[in-house]
Amino acid sequence: MALIVQKFGGTSVGSVERIANVAERVARARAAGDDLVVVVSAMSGETNRLLALGRDVAAEQAPHPRELDALVATGEQVASALLAIALEARGVPALSLLAHQIRLRTDAAHTKARIRTIDDRPLREVLAAGRVAVVAGFQGVDEEGNITTLGRGGSDTTAVALAAALGADVCEIYTDVDGVYTTDPRICPSAQKVPKISYEEMLELASLGAKVLQIRSVEMAMKHGVVVHVRTSFTDAEGTVVTKEDESLEAIVVAGVALDRDVAKVTIRGVSDEPGLAATLFEALADAHVVVDMIIQNVSEDDRTDLTFTVSRGDVETARPIAERALGEKKRGEVVVDTRPAKVSIVGLGMRTHAGVAAKMFRLLAAAGINIEAISTSEIKVSCLIAEARGEDAVRALHEGFGLGAPR
Ligand code: ASP
Ligand code: MG
Repeated sequence: MALIVQKFGGTSVGSVERIANVAERVARARAAGDDLVVVVSAMSGETNRLLALGRDVAAEQAPHPRELDALVATGEQVASALLAIALEARGVPALSLLAHQIRLRTDAAHTKARIRTIDDRPLREVLAAGRVAVVAGFQGVDEEGNITTLGRGGSDTTAVALAAALGADVCEIYTDVDGVYTTDPRICPSAQKVPKISYEEMLELASLGAKVLQIRSVEMAMKHGVVVHVRTSFTDAEGTVVTKEDESLEAIVVAGVALDRDVAKVTIRGVSDEPGLAATLFEALADAHVVVDMIIQNVSEDDRTDLTFTVSRGDVETARPIAERALGEKKRGEVVVDTRPAKVSIVGLGMRTHAGVAAKMFRLLAAAGINIEAISTSEIKVSCLIAEARGEDAVRALHEGFGLGAPR
């Protein structure tokens, strides 16, 4: 008998029929003798609907974050109660549980709270009584008892956190894709479902915009060694297992290709090359909560240098004046902003031990006539900044060139 945490995303509980489908699936797992904790998201579209309502009544003001959390957390309350009702109606004893009932404590950072502690006893009692625990995802309570939420996609993190707290055998995440693919199948029809991937690769892919799991849930799974199985509730097909690296994964040089279109490039040209420039600039960006991705500084000439960094497009207008201030009082140099690049990346554990992977990537892009504007690397990733218009071509060239279109 196993202890399984199952999480169903908004699409899986998006209608009466789909809730019935989930209830059938849970009932089958229960009949097989497993103990089940089921985490649900709000019905699809519900969180957005609630957020829009909040904005509408706030008129021109930004809604108060505490009240926004009280508002959006209702989406998961509804879904958990509906699933518990559907289970009971099928003769499966079930109990819906909200964050305060399982004492899921977070910090007080409304709309992006972090989980601090979970009391596993209430859940264990429900399981010991032979019931399925149906937990509202996404929500928590702070020290004062205020309702908090974990950020968009946060039900994934609820599920992984519960799996860690309970020492579950596996955390199954049922989502609207049936697994993790070698690249976006809409761009590249030959994309293959990956049977297994490491936490490290998944984190890189997630941060590159492959939004299958909330990044924080992957970080938490890695920290606690929770095995995550990403799959669909619409078929019984196996999905992708996200787990710690092993020899079979290390042998794979490139596991996936990702495209991130949410990139803007800021270049400070011909600025005075003096100590403190980068420190002052990036401190100011950090103070303004601008997350910087790539940073490239050129060799300087005549004590002037070029410095380029990338940010997400929504942060450009915050970053531009900060970059202009870095030119100093004499306004030496200029700031150039490009909001049309894209970042294409290859990710794979095997890069750590194989030479020539980056060179092969550059050759493949060159053969497709794609110019590289900037490059950055980590141990298991190479990213190139290119023109957005060539982004999909680049993905196809790399996917094909690294032989990812064939089942592994
Ligand atoms: N309902 C929340 C959202 O839409 C949380 C989740 O689905 O994981 O972001
Ligand atoms: Mg999700």
